[in-house]
Amino acid sequence: MPGPGVDHVATGRYRAPVQLHRIADRDGWSCWLCGGEIDPGAPVTSPARGTVDHLVPRSRGGSSELANLRLAHRRCNHRRGSLLPEMHWPDEWPMLMTVHVWTALARLAPRPGAAEVVAVAPLREVADDAASWLVERAEAFVPGGWESWCVEESSGPVAVWLRRPADAAPGTAGRPKHPDA
Ligand SMILES: [Zn+2]
Repeated sequence: MPGPGVDHVATGRYRAPVQLHRIADRDGWSCWLCGGEIDPGAPVTSPARGTVDHLVPRSRGGSSELANLRLAHRRCNHRRGSLLPEMHWPDEWPMLMTVHVWTALARLAPRPGAAEVVAVAPLREVADDAASWLVERAEAFVPGGWESWCVEESSGPVAVWLRRPADAAPGTAGRPKHPDA
């Protein structure tokens, strides 16, 4: 039964629903959970297909207003299920240690200026990649500014730090924070 946000384009088997295009016009064709690109022409059954995800799940009272909607790959959307937003470190990075990113964001967002080590990488270049990925993903979850930097330890490994800048507004992880909201 069609409800809010289920107005599909009537023609074209592989055309993305109108709602997907509205969100893509706003945010671009990328998955808000993993940051990867979404192909608007991916087959309906493909795990890489774009789907509409709720920032705050409907089961937790999230609305179907555009402000609460994001694009996610089918596979990322399914993996997340009805949980609050989850961030998975890319599998290809040989990290020595990572923290649960969402938990770190929930701790750091309300406390601008407070910093934590969120990962330890074996190499500087891996740490640099992780730092930029982290800032981008953190911003997608809790907009308002994030900083990440790397500190090489004397023993070799490189620590990746994250914080919300001291002059940024406190944020709340787990609730929709979007300019349109
Ligand atoms: Zn994804």
